[in-house]
Parts: sequence; C-alpha cells; structure tokens
Amino acid sequence: MDFYMPTKVHMEKDCVKKHKKELTSLGTKALIVTGHSSSKKNGSLNNVTEALSSEGVLYVIFDEIEENPSVETIMKAATLGIEEHVDFVIGIGGGSPMDASKAIALMIANPQENESLLYESKNAPVLPVVAVPTTAGTGSEVTPYAILTLHSEQTKRGISHRIFPVLALVDYTYLTFAPREIMVCTAIDTLAHLIESYLNTKTNVYNRMMTEYGLRIWGCFKDALLSNDAPSESTYQAMMMASTIAGMSISHTGTSLPHGMSYYLTYEQNIPHGNAVGIFLPAFLDIFEDKNQVKRLLGLLDFKNEKAFTKYIDSLFEIVVVNEDDVDRYVAGMMSNQKKLANYPFKMTEDKFYTIFKNSVKIKKNRKFPFFNRNK
Ligand code: NAP
Ligand code: ZN
Repeated sequence: MDFYMPTKVHMEKDCVKKHKKELTSLGTKALIVTGHSSSKKNGSLNNVTEALSSEGVLYVIFDEIEENPSVETIMKAATLGIEEHVDFVIGIGGGSPMDASKAIALMIANPQENESLLYESKNAPVLPVVAVPTTAGTGSEVTPYAILTLHSEQTKRGISHRIFPVLALVDYTYLTFAPREIMVCTAIDTLAHLIESYLNTKTNVYNRMMTEYGLRIWGCFKDALLSNDAPSESTYQAMMMASTIAGMSISHTGTSLPHGMSYYLTYEQNIPHGNAVGIFLPAFLDIFEDKNQVKRLLGLLDFKNEKAFTKYIDSLFEIVVVNEDDVDRYVAGMMSNQKKLANYPFKMTEDKFYTIFKNSVKIKKNRKFPFFNRNK
C-alpha cells in the first residue's frame, strides 16, 4: 500500500485570511497566476493580495491564463517570474490557473532550460506552489498533475513532473460566483475523478477509503445539479470537499479512459473539460467487466442502476457530434495511450473503444459521393 499526499490543506470559509501567516512564510515575492477575470470578481485575488500586503510580502500578477492553458502561456508567465525574481508561485482559479502555476514554478526554478523540460523525465527543482481553488472540479490543489495544451501535438497532455502544491487554501464561498454551466461541468469532473480512480488498476485500501467517502458526498448533492435554483451553502461546501477528496484519489491512481478520450473533444471542439469527460462515463461503466464494482459504486452515489445513471448524465449535457474519421483517429490514439491503458484493469480493444464512442457521441458518417463513370 502506498500513500503520499504532501500538500497541507486548509478548508474553511475565509481560509486565505485565516492562514495568511502560513501563506506568507513561503517566500518574499510571489508570482500570482490567475485567469482573466473570475478571481477579480469572486474576491479570491483580493483576499490573496491583501494577505500578502499585510505581511509585507511583495507580489506580481500574471492574469492571462486561458482555459486549458498552453505551453506558450506557461513560458510567457515564467519569463515574468524570472525577471521579477519571485521565490514562490500562487495559483488562483480553476484547474487551468492551478495547473499552470505548477508548470510555471518549474520553469522559473530552471531559467537555463527551455519548454522541453516540461515533458522530460528528469529531476528538476521547483519553486513552492500555493493553490487557491475557485471551482469545485479538478482537485488540482492536491494533485501533482498539470495538464497543458500542446498545440504542436494538437492535444492536451500532463507534464512529466509531479508537482504537489505545498499549501492548498480551500474556501467554498468562491463557488457561489460560478454560473450553473461551470458548476455542472466542474462537479462532473469531480465525479469522473472518483469513478476513474475507483475503477482503476492502481486503487488500494487508502485510496478506496477516501474515494468511497467522496462518492457518498457526491451522491448527496447530485440533485442540486439538475435544479436551476442556487445551491445552499452546505451544498457548495460539499461540492468543494468532494472535489478536493477526488483530487487526492487521482493523485494515487491517475485518471482512466474517459479523461484520455475527453482531451480530443476539448482540443478539437472546445468542449469544457467536465462536459467532455462526463459524456463518456455511462459507456465506460457499461463496458467495465467487473459489474460488482460498478454496482457498489452506483450504490455509493445513490443511483438505482446504470440506466438511471445514464439518464442523469444525458439530462445534463447536449449531444456532441463527431465525424466518423475522427472517431477512427481517436480510437487509434487511445490504443497507443499507454498511461491510460495501464490504469484500466481489463484488456482494451479497438472495438471496445469504438463502442464507447458510439454510445457517448453522435457519429456523423462520412459523405459518400455517387460514383460517376466519366467515360460514359
Ligand atoms: P478552468 O479552465 O480553470 O476555468 C473555467 C472557467 O471558469 C474560466 O472561464 C474561469 O474564468 C471560470 N471560473 C473559475 N472560477 C470561477 C468562479 N468561482 N466563478 C465564476 N467563474 C469561474 O476550469 P476547471 O474545470 O476548473 O479546470 C479545467 C482544467 O483543469 C483543464 O485544463 C483540465 O485538463 C485540468 N485538470 C487538471 C487536473 C489535475 O489533476 N491537475 C484534473 C482535472 C482537470 P477565468 O478564466 O476568468 O478565471
Ligand atoms: Zn478532470
């Protein structure tokens, strides 16, 4: 059995303010890494800058992190951090800024290196990273992963380095600013992490302990995602708790096939991460050979059976259309995705992947042109 989760987590309302001494003890000048606008609106950026200023810690802000951050943006932010001589990095926002902050912290600590370091398997120093999540979905505040968009390879891929934040300051009140679409997508990402970690080759007793607890919490708030009413404070709290727990789960196992397949839809059709992952979950459960595990998992989530689960997911997302040629390409890509295949406990085949796609998206047939014999 292995258990390794080195991130110190504080989870409570007004978390940044209450733990500002710990935050500011990490360095003398911070690079704050965030998205374009949400952290300014939900108060998280202000909370962090106030905490730093009150303790005399300097900072510089990079607020250009896009959704599904690219390697190019990482390098731009790292250049700023190097020029400004920062000695720690604070990621504020959803998974995109939090993942970006890890990759940026790596590049700042290795100013002599170029971007290829991100995907090289070698030991390299990294600046301390603090994560302040404002979505409840990725759990990036407690995972060692950073998923970046690689335009050169036209997909998304996790960097080779495992970088756990040293500190996670988790305040569910930031979630109250998220529109319903973001709330649903991110909550389904949490669900996918729990499912893909539970039905994973690398699961173990410790991992199960938290994943089962996470699944139970998730099951308790699932109806809130179907409603247009704003969730209660305790629901937001539960969403954040489930997200962080699910992050701890995948830290031990990694994600599985739905995450691997989702990256194509996000890169090529701009489908938000949680939506792109979520639509594959019912078909993933359907092909999973150990039905006892699936039954137990659905029980923890308080779904009667697979049919009820499929109906639930279908009611949240619109149908995604994919060209037949593209499906063939994705199936071939997944058959060579050794990382994700290793996390799936059974043998995968092209036919099985095709079945997952067929049952998850609408496949648009290639247009057949009539045959003209020009000699006639
Ligand atoms: P995101 O890409 O970080 O943000 C999505 C949108 O939500 C952005 O427009 C953002 O605005 C907005 N937003 C963030 N917090 C908000 C709030 N409190 N209120 C209103 N709007 C808010 O979304 P995400 O789903 O959290 O992260 C997805 C990324 O994480 C993907 O790149 C995915 O691959 C990665 N991921 C990482 C892990 C891991 O273990 N590290 C796991 C799963 C997924 P701004 O741009 O203005 O901030
Ligand atoms: Zn995810």
